[in-house]
Amino acid sequence: MQTIDIQTLTRKNIAQLEPYSSARDEYKGKEGIFLDANENAFGSVVEVENLKLNRYPDPYQTALKERLAEIWGISPNQIFLGNGSDEAIDLLIRAFCEPKQDHILICPPTYGMYQVSAEIQNVALQKVNLTPDFQLDTQTILQTFTPQTKLIFLCSPNNPTGNLLALHDIEIVLQNYTHGLVIIDEAYIDFCENPTLQQSLLVKYPNLVLLRTFSKAWGMAALRLGAALANSEIIQILNKIKPPYNINELTQHFALQALQSEKIARKEMFVKKIKQQKTILVDSLVKFQFIEYIYPSDANFLLVKVKNAQDLFAYLIKKQIIVRNRSNVVLCENCLRITIGTAHENAMLLQVLAQYDGVQ
Ligand SMILES: *Cc1c(COP(=O)(O)O)cnc(C)c1O
Repeated sequence: MQTIDIQTLTRKNIAQLEPYSSARDEYKGKEGIFLDANENAFGSVVEVENLKLNRYPDPYQTALKERLAEIWGISPNQIFLGNGSDEAIDLLIRAFCEPKQDHILICPPTYGMYQVSAEIQNVALQKVNLTPDFQLDTQTILQTFTPQTKLIFLCSPNNPTGNLLALHDIEIVLQNYTHGLVIIDEAYIDFCENPTLQQSLLVKYPNLVLLRTFSKAWGMAALRLGAALANSEIIQILNKIKPPYNINELTQHFALQALQSEKIARKEMFVKKIKQQKTILVDSLVKFQFIEYIYPSDANFLLVKVKNAQDLFAYLIKKQIIVRNRSNVVLCENCLRITIGTAHENAMLLQVLAQYDGVQ
């Protein structure tokens, strides 16, 4: 294990910050007459199961983290929970990057929120494009980062390209970059063959952060729950600057339900069905004339290169089938990103595409 002093990586004002202390921080007992948080003691105007919606939720999501820790084989203090993993992205940038001074490094084409969150914080971007086969250009990454580069965002499986990054390349970055954090966004990790490989790096690299979300495989996008997994010092810093009650009671309650074994099995069943549908879709798509290339996918979507993406995109919209046009994104010329739908939805898509193919 490398030694890295996380405190010195943190922005000075954040390291010195005295965090907000909520009512639930100052008294942690569960029994008693609670007259400390200005809640409505009579009840809530809305009722959901037996939930006490009139009370503020647990600010540190203790029960949920304990269950997640058990499932992921790490300690609860290595888990930060966010209002979607987008919140973790935003807090990482705010905790570690001094505005107008520090940089983050990203590898386009990739997820758009890294750039947006950095720009909101007035943090400059360094961009090292992926190679033509969408892998890390490690040599250029090592030549590009500077002492002001505080975070390197990698996304594996990557959005919008769909592929895993080679573990070997990720390790080259980790071995050579020790003055900031490496973040691997694992939003689509449930769809790949070996979902725990990247996590095995956590024990070796104290500056590694993994991001996970319940929005994709788990089918809980509406609940807004994401996680950062990292060593406890990094997690403490994120906890210090997060909004006190960032995970609401409904989300904590339903996420705990989702982690019961029969619900986990349900997620696995969804993943299996999505993979089956992906194979069916690929096998049918390759037969169309307008398809130039279907990129290999470790995720729940396909990136496809077509003859004329703008034309096909507009045609599909007219047929009320909405896909993502990624053709303006670097290295993704004439590419559409298609999320795997249900068997029925995919059949409809193929039917409409067959008509399009016929008139080309
Ligand atoms: C969808 C997605 C997210 C967003 O996750 P939320 O938990 O819904 O905020 C994060 N990263 C990538 C790469 C994604 O595609």
